Amino acid sequence: MGRAAGRRRFHKRIDFSEAAARWRWPPPPLKSNYEILLGDGCNAACLFCCAYKEIGNWLPWARVKGDIAREQAAGTQMITFSGGEPTLYPGLARAVAFARKSGFTLIQAISNGMKFADAAFAREIAGAGLNLAKVSLHGVDAATHDRLTGVKGSFELALEGMSNLNALGVYTSLNMAVTKANYRQLPLYVKFFSERMALTGFCFYFGFYTGRMADEEALQVPYSEVTPYMRYALEYMRQRKVRIDWKVLGNFVPCLMPEYANVMMDWGRTGDAPGRAVVRKKGESLSSGEFMSKRKVLPATCRGCAYYGACYGIDRRYYEKFGSGEFRPVKTPPASFPLEPIY
Ligand code: SF4
Repeated sequence: MGRAAGRRRFHKRIDFSEAAARWRWPPPPLKSNYEILLGDGCNAACLFCCAYKEIGNWLPWARVKGDIAREQAAGTQMITFSGGEPTLYPGLARAVAFARKSGFTLIQAISNGMKFADAAFAREIAGAGLNLAKVSLHGVDAATHDRLTGVKGSFELALEGMSNLNALGVYTSLNMAVTKANYRQLPLYVKFFSERMALTGFCFYFGFYTGRMADEEALQVPYSEVTPYMRYALEYMRQRKVRIDWKVLGNFVPCLMPEYANVMMDWGRTGDAPGRAVVRKKGESLSSGEFMSKRKVLPATCRGCAYYGACYGIDRRYYEKFGSGEFRPVKTPPASFPLEPIY
């Protein structure tokens, strides 16, 4: 582990139940979340970025405002701002304030965290009403994280940003893109951030083989190499009673670790993360289900799986590279699970 992370003092994070009470979050389960992709602009150059080849312009304010108003009228419970990097969007404070004024109580940003290292900026956005931040950290040390983001110093800035958000009462959690460069760190990652920062929110996204990731052979790794480390990390959470707030696994499918199917998001029609997350591409809007259906493939070997018909299948590019040998049909889904998310 990098020495800088090891000796750093973190501001204590607000507890989940404290945050839920303070911000009046709706009781679980969360039924709907609308994600607004503000644009593709970013201040990092992540080696695994799947948006890398589609850098575009910011969403016009009228569209952002219209989306928030429409979702509020539709009864959506949560608004998420993402990108690209949402903190670069010139009207982020205005968008967050508008969501707050419209009545949303769950307002989230998915960010690399760097801009929140600027205490005045963090204060402005938290003051506008942001109460959840999912920050991307791709390793337990600066060398790993900075190499993956392509920005020297990004690890320190992200930690500083999280500390600022914690001090402001914004509930923080972590995102990690799992690649060949960092998967062996998974158990240490969970141990370090749950012990040192009292974090209970983790999201481990297995890299999609599109955009830049499709060309980065050095980051590509089969699931079967990753899952033993992932299991170890999740078992650590169970043993240490880390009460996870949301589902923790992205771009995994049940047959890889059936005992954790309930903490996998986005694998299928019955396993989606809550709601109507929408992906925009050149003005086109797709529900997360439509998006996943386009991106994934169900090999013939899936027939006979208990999840067949519900599961979207495997990332198409992953399948082309590694084949379908790792995906063995599940005969009987587990009756119980070792981890249960709050939402
Ligand atoms: S349908 Fe296929 S990919 Fe999905 S869980 Fe079953 S075997 Fe795995």
